[in-house]
Amino acid sequence: MGISLWNTRLDVPEFKTSSENPEHLGDVIDVEEQKLFPVVDWQLLQRQVQTCQACDLHATRTNTVFGVGDTSASWMIIGEAPGADEDLKGEPFVGKAGQLLNEMFISIGLSRETVFIANILKCRPPNNRDPHVEEVAACQSFLEQQIGYIKPKVILAVGRVAAQNLLQTKETIGRLRGEKYSYRDTGIPVIATYHPAYLLRSPLEKRKVWQDLVLAKKIMATR
Ligand code: SF4
Repeated sequence: MGISLWNTRLDVPEFKTSSENPEHLGDVIDVEEQKLFPVVDWQLLQRQVQTCQACDLHATRTNTVFGVGDTSASWMIIGEAPGADEDLKGEPFVGKAGQLLNEMFISIGLSRETVFIANILKCRPPNNRDPHVEEVAACQSFLEQQIGYIKPKVILAVGRVAAQNLLQTKETIGRLRGEKYSYRDTGIPVIATYHPAYLLRSPLEKRKVWQDLVLAKKIMATR
């Protein structure tokens, strides 16, 4: 798939296809930190998102949805794009899907306040359609800067669109979940799982999400 992938047995993650040695990933982040994570002015970034007109979605949004949570969080949760509730409130993952996401956090000892939640896009696509390639490209720098500022220890990509864009692949979420990847060349582990909106329609899949969360938590323990 052209992406970094480790074996995902729940005991010791095993390096699989990247040329990097995972035992030294922590060193890579320290030594190369300035190169990997350029300095970000968080307040300026927020203002830039609020006033952004870089793609057509600015014309139909009610609010931009910058992201919410702890900017020094170890966990970063990244979804697809704002829906109707999020567009109205200016906050990601509210409504029923947001409630389920909160329950997912609680199940592994986290809370909405102790993670940072963001989306691939900061504005709602009309009728909740998939983001267009040019919209993702226009918005990409905002998310990159958020990741660079927060420097999470693990990224949880929720849903197909988030996982495919973060991992630069067209694989299905069903094939992407259950594995450990790396966010580009940063060494930050990425775990992909189903979107809570999908779980509302397919509650039997909650078991798989639980497995993904356990995997992410085990990876966190090694960081
Ligand atoms: Fe700007 Fe992103 Fe909103 Fe497009 S989706 S207008 S790039 S903030």
